[in-house]
Amino acid sequence: MTEHLLKILFVGDGCVGKSSFVHRYVNGQFNKSYKMTVGVDFNMKLLPWTDTEKVRLQLWDIAGQERFISMTRIYYKGASGCVVMFDVGSAASFLSCRQWKQDLDNKSMRSDGQPLPCILLANKCDLKERVVSVDSIQKFSQACGFTFWMETSVKDNRNVSEAMRRLVEEILSVQSALSPLPPSGVGFQLDSQLSGTSHTGCSC
Ligand code: GDP
Ligand code: MG
Repeated sequence: MTEHLLKILFVGDGCVGKSSFVHRYVNGQFNKSYKMTVGVDFNMKLLPWTDTEKVRLQLWDIAGQERFISMTRIYYKGASGCVVMFDVGSAASFLSCRQWKQDLDNKSMRSDGQPLPCILLANKCDLKERVVSVDSIQKFSQACGFTFWMETSVKDNRNVSEAMRRLVEEILSVQSALSPLPPSGVGFQLDSQLSGTSHTGCSC
């Protein structure tokens, strides 16, 4: 059995739903009073993939910043892919996605020098009051080189596992193109110190 170990980063302004997304994806729950993340929160998820392969995801969920901040290179090191998230009810969170993507592209790349697979998630699509149009998301996603974009609702459990599955597919196809040998040795080495989780801080 081949195991792929993939480090996936979640970035985006505070309150867009990153922690709720990871929590829903890993634990299958939506908790309205989910606490704001302080520091970095690590979560693991094991995905059965094929008869001979499984995927172990290490999900890095960053601190709840209100606005964009430049991240340390250490955060990006060894990453296989990234999720940039905004809230369709917040124009400011959408505008910040440009900077989040640029920061990622400045500080990380694939072994062939290309940008990392990165998806754009338009979260809270259950909201009636949307201020970001589908047309502008579409244009922005193309212009900034996102692998794809998707509307999600963590609340209604819409497109959460679908988005992750498509991202993992993309990462694995990139990795197998870059290294035709079985990718067992490729990927991020899990540091046992990083495998715990921590939840602290004030509510959002
Ligand atoms: P983070 O700061 O990006 O990690 O955001 P959180 O996960 O802490 O979520 C911020 C707030 O948005 C919380 O009150 C969540 O309950 C709420 N939230 C997250 N996802 C959704 C969603 O899909 N729809 C709605 N309506 N609210 C959501
Ligand atoms: Mg958070």
